Amino acid sequence: MEKIHLSEVLTHLGENRTEYFNAIAPPVIQSSNFMFADLKELRSAFSDELQHHVYTRGNNPTVAILREKLAALEGTEDALVFSSGAGAIAAAVIGNVQAGDHVICQQAPYSWTSALLRKLLARFGVSHSFVDGTDVENIKAAIQPNTKVLYLESPNTFTFDCQDLESCAALARAHGLVSIIDNSYASPIFQNPASFGIDVVLHSGTKYLNGHSDVVVGVLCANKAMVRKIFESELMTLGGILGPHDAALVLRGLRTLELRVKRSDENARFLIQQLENHPKVARIWHPFHPSFSQQSLARKQMRGCGGLFSVAFHADSFEQMEAFIHRIQRFLMAVSWGGHESLMMPSIGFYNIPGRENPPAHWNFVRFYAGLEDPAWLWEDLEQALVGL
Ligand SMILES: *Cc1c(COP(=O)(O)O)cnc(C)c1O
Repeated sequence: MEKIHLSEVLTHLGENRTEYFNAIAPPVIQSSNFMFADLKELRSAFSDELQHHVYTRGNNPTVAILREKLAALEGTEDALVFSSGAGAIAAAVIGNVQAGDHVICQQAPYSWTSALLRKLLARFGVSHSFVDGTDVENIKAAIQPNTKVLYLESPNTFTFDCQDLESCAALARAHGLVSIIDNSYASPIFQNPASFGIDVVLHSGTKYLNGHSDVVVGVLCANKAMVRKIFESELMTLGGILGPHDAALVLRGLRTLELRVKRSDENARFLIQQLENHPKVARIWHPFHPSFSQQSLARKQMRGCGGLFSVAFHADSFEQMEAFIHRIQRFLMAVSWGGHESLMMPSIGFYNIPGRENPPAHWNFVRFYAGLEDPAWLWEDLEQALVGL
């Protein structure tokens, strides 16, 4: 597909301003349904609810502007939006399997993606294999006669394991599998999996795309046929749609997508530079860091990384690690990422929760997200917190 300039996409694409009083900001068409002038119009609209305005579960003008921009950002023919990233992931996988089928998934996906395969789809007779996708040979070895979907998440969001997108897409094509990727980590600014031949590109738009920590949204980008299939089945029947007001907020977020993602990327790299020589730092995880085993693959398929990185600290005891975490003030302790605010997710927080297994990451591990603040101000905070660790 012809690539549209990023600035054109973020600022103008899909915005037919003459249709709404030349307003710069698109209107929020807060209407559940749309009327027909006559029966001819009604029949024509009912023949294609994806294109026409019938009912907001199917199509809404504000949401349609967002869909057009998102498809252009990923270089696909079309896109759908959902009420959450999890909703988009479920629709993409469910839309491409039936009872008796098998899904191959990289070994450490987003937790609810794992739950979709282990718990929900297992109830409907869809089996799965989790494989170490850092080597495409492992994926090849896991293909069964009934495998229908190859599900990737590259990089994932704690240790940033990557899959070779070009090889995975070729493998999927050769075996008739639908290749799906969760591209939330890199955002469309830094990685476009469709350009490597991946069929379905998903995002938790809650992260960078909206970018202001005030909307939960999911995105699915694919060719027209795939989008129509998932629209007619999963989107319309499961009904996990994005409302027009949230769509307008995401459109506003997109205005600054490039600026925000690049700023987070720079801030993360600044913080890593400060941290890597600190005596209390044991290890750093970041796809472009010299110590990262897949650095050359990451640099081949991504133009940058964004704000996420992980650090293992030298801590002598659980108590010492807890005290360190509690001294950090400017990184909010919270899930998610991709917003304006810097965050941290300490692995130690997942320990000693009744009924919950300890996470694979050791208790000295912290996943950080660098937001949009002054990086020197952020470092000042980490530096003071490190005293006494
Ligand atoms: C947050 C996240 C999701 C889920 O998205 P929601 O919008 O929270 O439903 C999926 N994948 C990744 C990598 C995520 O970080």
